[in-house]
Amino acid sequence: MTKHTAGIHHITAFVRNPQDTVDFYAGVLGLRLIKQTINFDAPEVYHLYLGNELGSPGTIITFFPWAHSRKGRIGGGQVGITTYVVPAGTLDFWAERLRKFAIAFERTERFGEAYLQFEDKDGLKLEIVAREEGPQSQWSFGGVPAEKAVKGFGGAILYSTAPARTAHLLEHVMGLSRVGQEGAYTRFKSTGDLGNVIDLNVTPMGYGIGGSGTVHHIAWRAQDDADHAQWRSHVEQNGFQPTPIVDRQYFNAIYFREEGGILFEIATDPPGFARDEEPEHLGEKLMLPAWFEANRPQIVENLEPFEVRVLKEDQ
Ligand code: ZN
Repeated sequence: MTKHTAGIHHITAFVRNPQDTVDFYAGVLGLRLIKQTINFDAPEVYHLYLGNELGSPGTIITFFPWAHSRKGRIGGGQVGITTYVVPAGTLDFWAERLRKFAIAFERTERFGEAYLQFEDKDGLKLEIVAREEGPQSQWSFGGVPAEKAVKGFGGAILYSTAPARTAHLLEHVMGLSRVGQEGAYTRFKSTGDLGNVIDLNVTPMGYGIGGSGTVHHIAWRAQDDADHAQWRSHVEQNGFQPTPIVDRQYFNAIYFREEGGILFEIATDPPGFARDEEPEHLGEKLMLPAWFEANRPQIVENLEPFEVRVLKEDQ
């Protein structure tokens, strides 16, 4: 059986502060907060989702903000850099915007493409690339009009403790195509038009340390529940140990750790974030799954309030 993922579904990272995180990803990068809920495995911690207007697969970054988190260290077994893609011709707009917010960035180049690389407040490494490919976001916020908005993920750079094993997995299990080699990077492409360019650093790296400023896992797309079940047996037949299917409310998930140490998830495209809120009101209220509703007052009491706001630089 050959299977091909369309690309990245979402990326989940650890941070410390919900207000700082929303200010950075909504206030500076112009993403939409499409869901605020809690970590279903740790209800004292938010789970915040930011993406395009509907939180389409390939656009979703999710955060567990936890004030007492230790500082992580980026290294092997992690997504090293998360790549955002903006419309062709808008990279200078983004460089100017980063300057406006006093965010230090570096211009780099890979595979003939220009990148702006920078960090969020917790040290999570990000980059922006401009491409024709991928639908335009319909969301505008603060100083970011929809026609210049982040479309979603361009992809990611993976740091592996066993790059040859990770490369084999990407190509032969996840169904990506190996499309290039340049310096320390092997480039893979998936079939979708967002979250579809994966650069693997082929230098084996020592393990990073999980904590704030690091990615916890990268999730790949499955089309629907039937495809998801197939993915689970496919992964298992290839020698990995996926978890049972877990209901994450907005998608179903399985998880497995690949041989280079990176935690992979496979998540279904449906049902998506409009299953419990109207599309025009996504992310405005704290949403809890039914099994937590009875404890809402205590849960809310433990969470630090925050707001989605236009930052002073944009006023
Ligand atoms: Zn996930």
